[in-house]
Amino acid sequence: MQTSRRAWLKAATGAAVAVPLVFVAKQSLAAKNDALRNSLKYQDTPSGSKRCDNCLQWVPGKTPKDRGGCKILPGDTEISPSGYCVAWVEMKK
Ligand code: SF4
Repeated sequence: MQTSRRAWLKAATGAAVAVPLVFVAKQSLAAKNDALRNSLKYQDTPSGSKRCDNCLQWVPGKTPKDRGGCKILPGDTEISPSGYCVAWVEMKK
């Protein structure tokens, strides 16, 4: 009886520590480079057929629909595949 209570407390403490750590880790992975976004007039919507996912600078996320990065926006992991900025360059196929 005593042992199972101790085991339960140990497991509950581990979970209480692990959940915030996962949250913090996820937050630190998602980052925006606001200064460069503003200077490049980044927007989360396309400009006609010009989209981040058909731009030469695009760095894809895990899946084609996931947010990714951009070679000229260092540290930014929240670029929308359907986003756009004034530095758009056509990706040659
Ligand atoms: S340069 Fe601009 S349009 Fe091209 S991927 Fe980066 S943010 Fe998107």
